[in-house]
Order: sequence, then C-alpha cells, then structure tokens
Amino acid sequence: MEVDLIVTNARVITMDAGRPFAQAVAVRAGRIAAVGGPEVAALAGARTRVVDAGGRTLLPGFVESHLHLVLGGAELVQLQIGGVMGFEALRDAFLGYAARNADRALLMAQGAAYEILGAPVTRHDLDRVIADRPIAMMAPDHHTVWANTVALEKAGLLHGAQMPHGHEVVMGPDGTATGELREFEAFGPVLALGGEAHLQLGIATGGEPEPWPDAATFAADLDKVAAGLAHCAAHGITTMVNMDGNRYTCALLAALEEQGRLTARVRVPFHMKPHMELSELERASAMTAEFDGDWVRSGFVKMFMDGVVDSRTAYMLQDYPGVPGHRADPLFEAKRFKEICTEIDRRGLQIAVHAIGDAAVRQTIDGYEAAGRANGLRDMRHRIEHIELIDRADVPRLGSLGITASVQPPHPPGVMDFPMSTMDHVFHKARWRDAYLWKTLKDHGAPVAYASDWPVTDVSVMRGIQAAVTRVPYEGAGDERLSLMETLHAYTAGGAWAGHWDDITGTLRVGMAADMVLLDGDIEVADPMAIGAMGIALTVAGGRVTHAKPEFS
Ligand SMILES: [Zn+2]
Repeated sequence: MEVDLIVTNARVITMDAGRPFAQAVAVRAGRIAAVGGPEVAALAGARTRVVDAGGRTLLPGFVESHLHLVLGGAELVQLQIGGVMGFEALRDAFLGYAARNADRALLMAQGAAYEILGAPVTRHDLDRVIADRPIAMMAPDHHTVWANTVALEKAGLLHGAQMPHGHEVVMGPDGTATGELREFEAFGPVLALGGEAHLQLGIATGGEPEPWPDAATFAADLDKVAAGLAHCAAHGITTMVNMDGNRYTCALLAALEEQGRLTARVRVPFHMKPHMELSELERASAMTAEFDGDWVRSGFVKMFMDGVVDSRTAYMLQDYPGVPGHRADPLFEAKRFKEICTEIDRRGLQIAVHAIGDAAVRQTIDGYEAAGRANGLRDMRHRIEHIELIDRADVPRLGSLGITASVQPPHPPGVMDFPMSTMDHVFHKARWRDAYLWKTLKDHGAPVAYASDWPVTDVSVMRGIQAAVTRVPYEGAGDERLSLMETLHAYTAGGAWAGHWDDITGTLRVGMAADMVLLDGDIEVADPMAIGAMGIALTVAGGRVTHAKPEFS
C-alpha cells in the first residue's frame, strides 16, 4: 500500500537500539511504515510526498517532559519583559503595552527578573509605572508576582489575606501589602482580575471551574491552548507532559483533538494539594479512566513539596546563606506524604513531585520508597521534578528506586537565561557541587528526562540542547553534561519512557506513531554553541505536518 510521506537523505537518529541510525523514514496512516536506507524511496507512489532532507538530522519528535501548556498559551499575548532591567525600561515596556491594550482589565507582564530594579520591588515602584490601572508582573519561575496598589486593592489583598501554608501576601511595617505575592494562592486573586482565573485552577487549587465555562469562554480557551500548541510545534515538540491540570484541561485538549487541532500528545495530571483527603484521589482515577487515548491521557498525580530558590521557599537541609534559622518548610508533612504516595501508587497512578531543595528531594524519595515498600516495587516510573540541590547520600536512591530525574537544562543559574547571582544568594559555596546535577544522577542509575518548564523558560528545545551540552561547571563542581546523544535521548525516548508514552512515541521504528522532527542542520557536526540557533525544518505529529519552514511547506 502506498505511503503518505517519505523523508529521504536524512541523518536519522532513531533512538531504537536495534537500529540507531538510518537514512530514510516512510509514513503510512500516521504510523512509521519503514526505517532504512535508499531502498525506502521505492515505497513512493503517485500521492506520496517525498521530502529530501539534504543531510539534516531527523529525530523522534521532541518530548517536552515538564511544561504548562495552558498557562503558556494564555501568556503569549501578555507583556514579555524577560531581559528588561531598570525602572525606565520597565516603565516604557508597560506604557507601550497599556496603550496597545486599552480595554484589558489587568496589564500582566511575564519574565520579571527578581533583581529588575536592583532592590525588592514594591507596589509603590509599580505605581510609578502606572497607578490608575491594575498592573502586575510575574517572575520567570512563576512563583512570585508583584502588583501595584490598585491591583492589590481590587484583588482584596492590600490589607493582607489569610493564606494556606507556603503562600504569602508579603506585608510591610505599615500593615499593608508590599506588593510582593509569593506562590499561587497569594497572587491568584490578582491574576483573576484578568478574567483567566479558571485557567489557573490546575496549578493553584487542583479544583474545577465553577460554574463550568460557557461556550464562548470555552472557545476562547481553546484558541489560547491552540496558540500554545502552535508555539510548541514550531519548536519540534510532538509530545508533552503537562505539569498542572484538572479535568477542564483534559476537556479542552479532547475538544481540540476532536476538531483536528491537537498537534501534540499531552498528559495531564490531577493536582493533589496538602489539605485534600485521600478520597479526592478518586478524581485522579476517574480522569485516568476518562482520558486514556493516543493523544490525551491522564494517569498521574502532581504535587509540590516546596517552592523555589529565588524566593528562598525551597526546603533545605541547611539554613540559607546569610539567613540563620531559615530553611523553608515542606508543603506536605512527611508521614502524611508517605500515606498519599502509597495511596496513589496503590491506584496504579504515577507520581510527579516538584522538589527543589535537598530536604524536599529527600522527603519525596522517602515517600516513593514507602509506597514501594507497601505495594511492592512495580514499573510506576515515579518522578521528581527539578532536583536543584541534592544531598550526596540521596543520589543513589533515585537509581535504586527507579525514580526519574525530570530536570531542566535551561534552569541552572548562568547557563541559559537565569542570572548567576542566584547561586551566591541561595547555595552555600561548598554545595555548588551538589546543585543541578544531571550526569551524576544518570551515572548512579536514574533515568533522565529533559524539559523547559515553559513558560518558566523558553520552550525552545534547541536552546535547551545547547544549554545542556555547553554548560560550564560551577566552581568546585564536576562536569554535569550528558553527551549529545544522551541529551537527545533525554528530549525524546527518555521523556517518552518517563511520561509513559513509550508505547507509541519517542523512537523511530516501524509501527510507532509518525512523530518526527527534522532539524534545519546536522546536529552532530554543528558547533555546540550554534545549536540553539538551529531552526526546525519540519515537525510531524501522528503523520501530520504541524510545522514547516517555508521551503518545506
Ligand atoms: Zn513547572
């Protein structure tokens, strides 16, 4: 039977141990029909599209193992201030955006550096930018928002608010809010001014929108997610593990699939919060049963064990440098966390926990270990997200318990877009050797999956690969780079395995889904410092072209 698409004359890196390299791939009905040499060309028929790759690298479509698709899609239309430094530049950016968006209820900016004004940002600073309309800006890590006075007033936060543990409306000596809002529940009321609070629920509370959005809102939300998907397709991504979510997220994705607009396979978690009863996990099981297709799946539970380094909310084994007595706290109590993990594992669901500080990482491993002891170690592929600092004693535990290190090459300070200053502020110099480990974890047996955490950092996989293979060791630290092939594996087959997508994608072999990315060059011979600038020539998901450079369209 005639095939639909053939890519020939390519440097094919299959991630299939049985045949690691090839020259051509043929696609039929959304699946890979052949992987081989020049003989594959003979499968062409009258209606077959044949793409001459001209020696470019063809890979399995990228698996983005940790991102926030709905939030990222919604943010594409917000003000982007990554790289903006100083008051003048900030004011100019906001004034321009305000003029272009006269009817927006909230002027929201993304990518605000913690040190954007050289001193802690206050509402008064932002009042000097714009005082008569609500404005706010989000830190790149998405764990802190700064808002002006009118935004705080309208959100009901100016005089403080009762917050769950770990979430804080920072108060000044005069008894009013300073403008700094830490963690989702603290800044949720400000984001709600923009009319998108229901899109934040997956990350904020784990709840469902009430009332369920009407048809017009649903349609507008579909467009936002579709914008996010198109953005990702342009970066070669064909599979994603979404790291926030609820049933509404699944419903949006399922609707896009039905409309033929879903350009990537997406897994969506149930978000378990510390205050929830174990019985709420019934919702996770229900989501898993309802969404179990080739494109939209649930099957896992996301939790946050701690905050982030910049706001010193990451839970540490030692006090922070210069802040005696402060190590931050875990968001889950240790014994309770073990019970929760055991119940999730018992239900046959995977667990993914955000753990950044070394104490958070240890407590997370302890929870997974307890689950394994109670239920027997099965192929659950529980994973830890971020692992920005780890105690050496815990390193081998990941490998021995089969825990995936889900880490982000763009995240280490000084490596891609995040400033090096964080290293000094947050980590004792003697611990730099334990920060942002990749190779050490892999060498000790941990499966590794790479991601961007978009919109926390640029979703560009090519920039991520460059960051991963060119990273310079911190003072006193070892070389944490994986080889180029291992890096590509962590962005394809490794991510597919860690996301339980390996039954369908992540390797180029006959019968697998035709999820492929054609890079605009030969990555094996490219200057590593130029990989980030290498474009994506073609993205194919399920046999369908989801992105093409003009000359390939
Ligand atoms: Zn994240």
